[in-house]
Amino acid sequence: MRIVIKLGTSVLTDGTDRLHRPRMVDLARQMSHLRAAGHDVVLVSSGAVLAGWERLGFPKRRRELTHKQALAAVGQGRLMHIYGQLFEIYDVPVAQTLLTRADLRDRVRYLNARATLLTCLEIGVLPIINENDAVAVDEIRVGDNDTLSALVANLVDAQLLVILSDIAGLYSADPRQNPAAQLIDDVAAVTEQVYALAGAAGSHRGTGGMFTKIQAAELATRAGTTMIIAAGNEPDVLLRLAAGESVGTRFRPVSTRLESRKRWIMAERVRQAHIAVDAGAVQALTQQGRSLLPAGIVAVEGEWRRGQTVAIVAPDGQAIACGLCQYAAHEVAQIKGSRTSDIEHILGYSYGDEVIHRDDMVAFVKDEG
Ligand code: GLU
Repeated sequence: MRIVIKLGTSVLTDGTDRLHRPRMVDLARQMSHLRAAGHDVVLVSSGAVLAGWERLGFPKRRRELTHKQALAAVGQGRLMHIYGQLFEIYDVPVAQTLLTRADLRDRVRYLNARATLLTCLEIGVLPIINENDAVAVDEIRVGDNDTLSALVANLVDAQLLVILSDIAGLYSADPRQNPAAQLIDDVAAVTEQVYALAGAAGSHRGTGGMFTKIQAAELATRAGTTMIIAAGNEPDVLLRLAAGESVGTRFRPVSTRLESRKRWIMAERVRQAHIAVDAGAVQALTQQGRSLLPAGIVAVEGEWRRGQTVAIVAPDGQAIACGLCQYAAHEVAQIKGSRTSDIEHILGYSYGDEVIHRDDMVAFVKDEG
């Protein structure tokens, strides 16, 4: 299973004003066990601002965003240093990736970030993601890591997103004010009532409250990912969740990941543009579920940029599929008919062997398109 785990500042500090090493080592241990059990783990971690604040001796907090950005700039390296050491205990190499909303909105940057993260997983590295706070101003900020973690879950096609917080889940009322509040263990769909339950509850150390978590749940479940909110100090919480135990609040997906990916692929379809392929490629794509390689391409029609979606047309003129193209039209025109090993030689660079990867293809039933 591919799991994205989000750790909020409140979990990392465990009720104190400092990064709480014992809590962090406990979570690193659980994540390492999940990896050893064969799961792909991606960590989205807050705590940069707090780590910077701690390093500078807890200066008075200022209102300007730039002050917070400076604290994050001090703290991010410190945070990664700690993670590096903790995961070292379990012999798990880690990688830092700092994202902004702009990286996820732009399709080419999205593809690049996705490729890097998936490669990290493939080579056994645990990616640790945070917002690039030092440079992210309003227009390009995600702003809270709950939302960022839902976007990341979508980016890496995760089955499960776990948001660990200082609160055990979603309650029927605010548990700090109402002792009769009940934990809701299962949410079938994020509705207005669910938002109403979230109220304005939140802790003062992190950025997100319950509201941003519900927003994240809406994003994640629409993209086909299950999301769970649970308490970070619950013993072995990650191991128990991965084993299927009910802990915290589970939000069920309302769409499949495949449907959501198809919608995303089709969202940037360029009309009046296509790639014409030979009979061998038609066979490979439709019968064997292969990716489209340059060798099977005979002609390029129209203009598109890398990351846009174009039709694939068979020799009889039928569109057989649509796919997100890893190369711009002018690049495909240059490499068409060539062997994959020649891509780099012809273009001087390569975005990979596949012109259209099979995971990025939506097949048409006959006469569609
Ligand atoms: N990126 C911020 C940090 O590292 C946290 C944002 C959040 O917790 O939502 O401190």
